[in-house]
Amino acid sequence: MSDECFAKQGSKCIITSNKHCPKNCRFYKTPEKFKEDFLNTKAKLKELGILGDCQIRYAFFAKMCGKIKA
Ligand code: SF4
Repeated sequence: MSDECFAKQGSKCIITSNKHCPKNCRFYKTPEKFKEDFLNTKAKLKELGILGDCQIRYAFFAKMCGKIKA
């Protein structure tokens, strides 16, 4: 398991069922890159005027918005 990947929690990957990180995992991102991408997506949804709707419709996304801040 890659220690640098945002998806690693303990000895598990929270977004795949992989027991070990495959070489060149397509989901690999550093925590910093994940945060940057998340905030960019959130800003884009806000720009489109649908951030509030997305937060109502997707509870987990709303939770992430509360935790991941600039
Ligand atoms: S997303 Fe890929 S690289 Fe990251 S922890 Fe999961 S399996 Fe490993």
